[in-house]
Amino acid sequence: MPGFELFGAEEKKEVQDVLDNGVLMRYGFDPIRNGHYKALELEKDLANRMQTKYAQVVSSGTAALTVALASAGIGSGDEVIMPTFTFVASFEAILSVGATPVLCDIDDTLTLAPKAVQAAITSKTKAIMPVHMCGSMADLKALRAICDTHNLILLEDACQAIGGTYDGKPLGSYGDLGCFSFDYVKTVTCGEGGGLITNSEEFADRAHKYQDHGHDHVGNDRGAETHPFLGYNYRLSELNAAVGIAQLRKLDNTIAIQEKNYTILRDALSTIPEVTFRRVPETGVESYAFLNIFLPNENVARKAHKALGKNGVDACFYWFDNNWHYYKKWEHLLEQKSLGKLSKELQSGLQKNNTSFESSDLWMGRTVSCLIKLGWTEAEVNERASKMIEAIKRVV
Ligand SMILES: *Cc1c(COP(=O)(O)O)cnc(C)c1O
Repeated sequence: MPGFELFGAEEKKEVQDVLDNGVLMRYGFDPIRNGHYKALELEKDLANRMQTKYAQVVSSGTAALTVALASAGIGSGDEVIMPTFTFVASFEAILSVGATPVLCDIDDTLTLAPKAVQAAITSKTKAIMPVHMCGSMADLKALRAICDTHNLILLEDACQAIGGTYDGKPLGSYGDLGCFSFDYVKTVTCGEGGGLITNSEEFADRAHKYQDHGHDHVGNDRGAETHPFLGYNYRLSELNAAVGIAQLRKLDNTIAIQEKNYTILRDALSTIPEVTFRRVPETGVESYAFLNIFLPNENVARKAHKALGKNGVDACFYWFDNNWHYYKKWEHLLEQKSLGKLSKELQSGLQKNNTSFESSDLWMGRTVSCLIKLGWTEAEVNERASKMIEAIKRVV
């Protein structure tokens, strides 16, 4: 998954363009830019690659989610449904616009379970935020149907699955809004950065203003621009955008490498009857960023994870125990450990997350995920496959 494995002359050339004219900011300074508008170029490339009308790049994936929520008009008192398995950024973004994150069970797709989503809807629900964790996607068709019935926004977090598709569409482009992270460990990286995509002119128009203090971006005198509504600063710098341009151009090649390595490992593990694989929804194509397997039960999964590590198979994760990716360790959210006071509304809204998520625990307890790297040689992948089989066979 990490795009930094493929850094080369292409990234350097783009960054050099920016250093040559010295304009590190995306707006203004037109006479001295030498025609370089890297953030703008990255937006054009992103919209083009993702087959959407609009793209907005920002300073992180978390910022992309925040700007997406704000652009959809979500705020105080609104509830946003999100999965129990994700990165903490999901609830951080929801909290940052004043809305209430509502945790919801996952199923064997390792993403939102549509039935559980249906049951979590209240009169306050405004959006559903599926997170396409570890290279594969949520059942978007079912979630779209729920959104249409209840008039809700479908916001896809595709930060870990860029390059995958659903129903022939790039992940992130199926919902009303889709978000990507370009942080240092993601498939496309620019150090720190993120992007959102949409086909809605209204959301796109709000997004470019919101991520830049509310600037309307009319004319070429920043100081004279007006501010139709409140915003913040989530801008991406030109240096980061430059790296992103080179990285995004490599995406198709990156996915092809991931698929090749993934397939070798998957074919190998398919020979072990006790190993099954995460369900990919019909019409979905993974980005192959991770290989996700189920062991028969929690006990065996724990043992398999340990055995893999001992056998020299690095970068395998047992998310069930993870501090950052699974709700069980989010005591700062569940116990409301906030530096400043939370609103009364949030304090009571968050209470409902203090419940059990049995389907999530069942599936996460059995899951081991292995990162697919880009730099492996074929010999290394084959050796890895043998080591994985050896380790897992020892514990099943
Ligand atoms: C990485 C990630 C984010 C946040 O991205 P940052 O750029 O690190 O802020 C959000 N959601 C998921 C699923 C992620 O993996």
